[in-house]
Amino acid sequence: MEISSIINSLNDAQRVAVSAPGQAMLVLAGAGSGKTRVLVHRIAWHIQVDGVSPHNILAVTFTNKAATEMRGRIEELLNISARSMWIGTFHGLAHRLLRRHAKQAGLTESFQVIDADDQLRLIKRLLKNLSLDEAKWPPKQAQWFINAQKDEGVRAKHMLDSGDFYQRQMIAIYRAYEEVCERSSLVDFAELLLRAHELLRDNEDVLAFYQQRFRFVHVDEFQDTNTIQYAWLRLLTEGRDNLFVVGDDDQSIYGWRGAKIENIYNFQSHYPNHKVVRLEQNYRSSGQILKAANSLIANNDGRMGKELWTDAGDGEPISLYTAFNEQDEAYFVVEKIRQWVNDGGRRSDVAILYRSNAQSRQFEEKLMSTGTPYRVYGGLRFFERMEIKNALAYLRLMSNRHDDASFERVVNTPARGLGAKTLDDIRALARGQGISLWQAAAESIAQGKLSARAANAMKGFMALIKQLADEVEDKELFEKVKAVVEHSGLIGLYKKEKGDKGEARVENLEELVNAARLFDYDDDNGENLGELDMFLAHAALEAGDMQGDDYEDCVQLMTLHSAKGLEFKQVFLVGLEDGLFPSLQSTEDPARLEEERRLCYVGITRAMEQLYLTHAESRRLYGKESYPRPSRFIREIPPEFIQEIRLRANVSRPVTATVQPRSSMLGGSYKLGQRVSHAKFGEGVVLQMEGEGAQERVQINFHEVGLKWLMVSYAKLEAL
Ligand code: ATP
Ligand code: MG
Repeated sequence: MEISSIINSLNDAQRVAVSAPGQAMLVLAGAGSGKTRVLVHRIAWHIQVDGVSPHNILAVTFTNKAATEMRGRIEELLNISARSMWIGTFHGLAHRLLRRHAKQAGLTESFQVIDADDQLRLIKRLLKNLSLDEAKWPPKQAQWFINAQKDEGVRAKHMLDSGDFYQRQMIAIYRAYEEVCERSSLVDFAELLLRAHELLRDNEDVLAFYQQRFRFVHVDEFQDTNTIQYAWLRLLTEGRDNLFVVGDDDQSIYGWRGAKIENIYNFQSHYPNHKVVRLEQNYRSSGQILKAANSLIANNDGRMGKELWTDAGDGEPISLYTAFNEQDEAYFVVEKIRQWVNDGGRRSDVAILYRSNAQSRQFEEKLMSTGTPYRVYGGLRFFERMEIKNALAYLRLMSNRHDDASFERVVNTPARGLGAKTLDDIRALARGQGISLWQAAAESIAQGKLSARAANAMKGFMALIKQLADEVEDKELFEKVKAVVEHSGLIGLYKKEKGDKGEARVENLEELVNAARLFDYDDDNGENLGELDMFLAHAALEAGDMQGDDYEDCVQLMTLHSAKGLEFKQVFLVGLEDGLFPSLQSTEDPARLEEERRLCYVGITRAMEQLYLTHAESRRLYGKESYPRPSRFIREIPPEFIQEIRLRANVSRPVTATVQPRSSMLGGSYKLGQRVSHAKFGEGVVLQMEGEGAQERVQINFHEVGLKWLMVSYAKLEAL
C-alpha cells in the first residue's frame, strides 16, 4: 500500500534512485527535476521497505524550513512519526552533537552560540584591545579571514607565522579571537562545523557510535557544501557506502562563502562504488521559462552538462519591464501582484527576488502602502532585533557568566550609571589577567578599585543576574524568559522611547515570551540537552523562521540566495542591472561572474507559471544615484522568449520625488529612459522632457559629464 505511494508519483529515473540497493549515490540534475522529492522518497523507502528505523537516518537540508517540510512529507507519506530522525542543517546538527558531547568537544556545558553580528562585535572589541586601528584592519576583513580558515578546517595554531605583514597580523587576530571565545565559551557558526568535525575525528567512541547509528546519510543541495562539511560527512560514512547526495553544479552559489563545487568530483573518487543518476524532466516551470534558463546557463564554461525538458507546454513568455527608476519598478511589481490577487491568485504563490537585501525597502514600502501582507526572509529578523538580543543577552549571562559578548551588551542597558572609564578599567583588567569581564568586575569590586557609585551600580547588575538565575532555575523555559523581560528593566526602557518604535519593541519582547512558550526542541529519545541553551542556540541559528505568521497569505520577499530550492507560481526577478546583478565585484572576475549567472539561473528556475524580469534606468541605492545598463543576463536570454512590457500613455506612472515627467511623457519625440548619444557629451539617458516642437527640451544624464538640459532642435541627439 504505502510502497506504491512512495513510487507511483515518480518517473523512471527517479524510481531508480529511490529504490536502488543501499549504496553511495549521486543524483545530479538541474533545477525542478525532483531531486528533493527523490531524497524524501528515498528516506521513506528505507523506512518502509528496508525496515530502517527513522532513528537510524540522518538528513541534511539547506534551511530549517526545508527540514521541517521534509519531516512532514515523510510522516505524511508513511503515516508514522519521524521525530527521532535527525534532520536539519549542517549547523543545526553540529550544534546538537556539540551539546550532547560538550566535554569531549572541549567545550563547557553552557557554551553559547553567537551569530555573525555578535561575532563582528567581538572582533571589533578585540581589535581595540590589541590597539589595532579599525581603518587599517577592517573588522569585517578579519571576520572573513577567520571564518574562511575555519571553513577549511584550519586553526590559528596550524598556521605558520609567516607570510607578509598582513597575513601575520591576521593570524595574530585569529589566535586572539580563539582565546576570547574559549574563555567566554562562545561558539560562532563556522566553529560549530569545525568543532563537530574535530569531535568525530578525535573521539573514536563518539565516531563509532554515530557511524553505527546513522545507517543512511542524505544530503540535499550537495553542490554547496564546504570543505569541513564534506569532511564531516566523510567521517560519518567512512568505509561504508551509505551516503546519498543530490545536487546541481549549475546551482552552486556559495563559492564566495567557501562552498566547493569540487566536492561533487571528490565524492565520485571517494566512493568508488557510487551510482550516478541523472534526472532530465523538469516538473516545475513552463516551457519558455525553462528554455530561457537553459540558454542563460549555457554561457557558463566547465559545466557538468545537463539539459532539462518539460512536457508542460510553452506557457507564457517571460515579461521584461524597464522601469524608470527603482520606485517605478516597485510600483509596477506591486500593481502586477494586485492584478494577480484580483484574478484569484494567492499572495504566497508570489515571490519578489533580489540580489541584495537593501533592495527590499522599496517593495516593502509599496506593499505596505497598498495594505498587501508580505513577509521578508533574511531582513532584520525577529531574533536579530536589538531588544530581543538584549533580552537574550540577559538569558545568556544567566546561563554562562563568562559570556563577555552578552556582558558588554547589557551591563549598562538599561543605563545603570556605569561610565566608560569604569568599563574600560574592567576590560583592561580582564585582558591583563586573561579572565572574563564578569570575573574582572567582581575582582574590581573586591579590591576596591571602583568608585563607590560605580561599585554599587555594578553590584546591582551582578546581583540582578544571580537573582534572576536562582529564581527561575527550576521553572519552565517561558517563565525564565518572562522573568527577564519583566525584571531586567528593558520594558521600562522601551516604554520611555517615543513613538511607535518603543511600542513595537515592547510588543516584540512580549512575543519573545510567546516564542519560548511554543519552543519545542526535538527531544530525541527524551534526552535533556538544557532547554534554555537549546532555545538560545535556536535564536542564533534559526533567526529567519520567526517573522510573520506562516499561515497568513503573504507575498514572499527574499534574496536570490535564500530562494534556493523553493518554487512560486509568479516570480519577479528585480534589479537586473549591470553592477547590481551581476554585482560590481563580479564583472572583472570570470569565476565570480559565472557564479552570478548560476544565481540568475536559480532565480529563473524558481518560477512555475509567470516570470517577470525588471530593471531600472536610474537607481538610488546605498544613498547613491546611478544609471545602470540592463544586466547582461537579460541579453543572454534569446529574445523570442521575452515579451517587453511597454506602458501605454494612459497608464499612470508613479509621481516620484526626483522627477515628475508625467505630462511631458505624452508628447515629444523622446522616451523617458531612452539612451541617446551626443557628439560632444557622449552617451546618456533621457530623464525629463518639456515643451514641444522647436521649444522641446530634454534633460539627459550623460555618463561622462552628468546632467544637462539640451534643446532638441540643436542638440543632434542620436537615439541608441
Ligand atoms: P531544485 O534544484 O530547485 O532544488 P529539485 O530538483 O529539488 O529542484 P523538486 O523541488 O524536488 O526539484 O521538484 C520540483 C517540483 O516538481 C515540485 O513541485 C515536485 O513536487 C514536482 N515533481 C517532481 N517530480 C515529479 C514527478 N515525478 N511527478 C510530478 N511532479 C513532480
Ligand atoms: Mg531541491
